[in-house]
Amino acid sequence: MAEIRKLSEILIDKIAAGEVVENPASVIKELVENSLDARAASLDLTVERGGSRLIKLVDDGYGIPPDQVRLAFARHATSKIEDESDLQAISSYGFRGEALPAIASVSMIDMTTAVEGAKEGTRITIEGGKETLFEPAPPRKGTVITVRQLFFNTPARRKFLKSETGETRKLVAVFCKYAVSRYRNAMKLVSDNKEIINYPADDKLIDRLKRLWGNKVGNHLIEISKSTENGLIISGFVTRPEISRGNRNQIHLIVNGRPVYDVSLMHAVRSGYGNTLDSGFFPMAAIFIDIDRSAVDVNVHPAKTEVRFADEKYLYSQIKKLVEEAVQVPALFSVNSAARSGKDFHSMPKMTASKANTHQPVWHKPETMIKSSHNNNTSAIDRKTEDNFEEQIPPEAEQELNIGGKRFWQLYNTFIMGFRDGKIWMIDQHTAHERILYEAALDNLCERPGTSQCLLFDLTIELDPEDMAVFEKHVKLIERLGFEIEPFGKRAVIIRGVPGYFESSSIEEIFRNLLNGFSDNLSTGEDPIMALASSVACHASIRAGETLSQEQMQGLFNRLFECQEPYQCPHGRPTVVTISRDDLDKIFKRR
Ligand code: ADP
Ligand code: MG
Repeated sequence: MAEIRKLSEILIDKIAAGEVVENPASVIKELVENSLDARAASLDLTVERGGSRLIKLVDDGYGIPPDQVRLAFARHATSKIEDESDLQAISSYGFRGEALPAIASVSMIDMTTAVEGAKEGTRITIEGGKETLFEPAPPRKGTVITVRQLFFNTPARRKFLKSETGETRKLVAVFCKYAVSRYRNAMKLVSDNKEIINYPADDKLIDRLKRLWGNKVGNHLIEISKSTENGLIISGFVTRPEISRGNRNQIHLIVNGRPVYDVSLMHAVRSGYGNTLDSGFFPMAAIFIDIDRSAVDVNVHPAKTEVRFADEKYLYSQIKKLVEEAVQVPALFSVNSAARSGKDFHSMPKMTASKANTHQPVWHKPETMIKSSHNNNTSAIDRKTEDNFEEQIPPEAEQELNIGGKRFWQLYNTFIMGFRDGKIWMIDQHTAHERILYEAALDNLCERPGTSQCLLFDLTIELDPEDMAVFEKHVKLIERLGFEIEPFGKRAVIIRGVPGYFESSSIEEIFRNLLNGFSDNLSTGEDPIMALASSVACHASIRAGETLSQEQMQGLFNRLFECQEPYQCPHGRPTVVTISRDDLDKIFKRR
């Protein structure tokens, strides 16, 4: 057995870095928190190549005196807590004293810092945990910290990083979290020489939210506020139900000043909207929760993004109720919207499916395409079915089945039923359309660019900084879909033309969700082309609950069977099932 020995300091820091420093976004989180803890009024962040080449943060905080600079990089060295009692009621972001040594162990770090009124500041550089320079520097009050070549000495970590766009998006998202929670600070972010955020210090939260989300959303915000007898204060803003996003990213929860990620509380916010939001859609919100410091434990996660509440249930119900009261909408709206909600419809196919499993197979996944129904590969059962059909019902009779001259029926505003080749075909309008758009988008992105329909009026859409960053990086790809689009200032785009399949009534919503979904897919490391194609498919497609005309239904049927892979949507859900005369005979025990 090998001898047991103590790890070297550098190795310990490197191991600790695994917990605190996951990616550029987590480095930025730590640096930003340090600047805010140092009471900086303005934070100026520059990044290059998703932060993997450069992260530079300039603050005007109180700086570090020369004799303590080295200590700041020592493990478990902090100026923020002293004894155990402080741990019970933490009021700073940091307190574990691990971030700087951890970051320094996996990058090239350079820090210049000076305290107010000092004659001299200090500069220190550390490379892979080893100090390489320590010298006096000009006495500019505050701290400038530069992190280069993150993970240069931990190749495994470096490889683990997502695409530059993915990392950029994550770090912009992190920076935005603090831009919300600390709206009184001036905050600036430049990524690859492009200014993404430049917010002056704001007086009011609403002003900051307008900068972040744009005026249009800003004008649809509802203020919430409440304080309970046991000292809980909840305040902030939530969007009206008519504004929503395809993900939770814009639900900001701030607990005692700390942005936290708490799925349960996000759920509380979402559930306050009841069925005024379709399933899969989320509100935008900035909710400040001030709670007795002893009733929340922030020391459950090294990065402190997750916290634990003494009474989570109570908090959940308070938030839900408050949001509910705020977004209470006229009954008409909710009824109407309940009818549109995917939920009611989804229970239907599930029942059919489970019943089908207990009997003989009833609904088939079609094994052959319609056109090739006489193909020799057709399974024996299918052949028999078709033969039977041909014998018993002459082709003219198909006309008879089209009751009322209709060729297609829309069921529950979700499924389309039609007859062909002697069978009943049912398609799911959403998944089928997803498949069609997915293949069309892939074709546009890889082969021939899509055609564009001109808009009567240019449409200007304000974007979140995260989405704007993604847009700028991938504008060429987006254009290939058939968009005529260009950036408009730092936070908006102008759309002059859209792909032919876009519904003119909801271009803004579709585009926003499309971009949002695209960024989401990218941050999971997906290839940009696939990421974009599946987002188009998901967000530009017809939803369950939409009423379709005969022509639209016919179009869906025809185009679905022109697809290379017509029987599944890009996520693997079925698009179409069939039932034959033979199946009906079996069900009713005619044979
Ligand atoms: P923690 O934040 O948990 O104390 P860190 O490793 O992040 O640990 O930082 C160590 C110490 O370095 C902090 O306690 C603080 O005193 C000092 N420090 C770090 N960044 C700054 C900054 N931007 N301005 C002033 N002091 C800083
Ligand atoms: Mg810190």
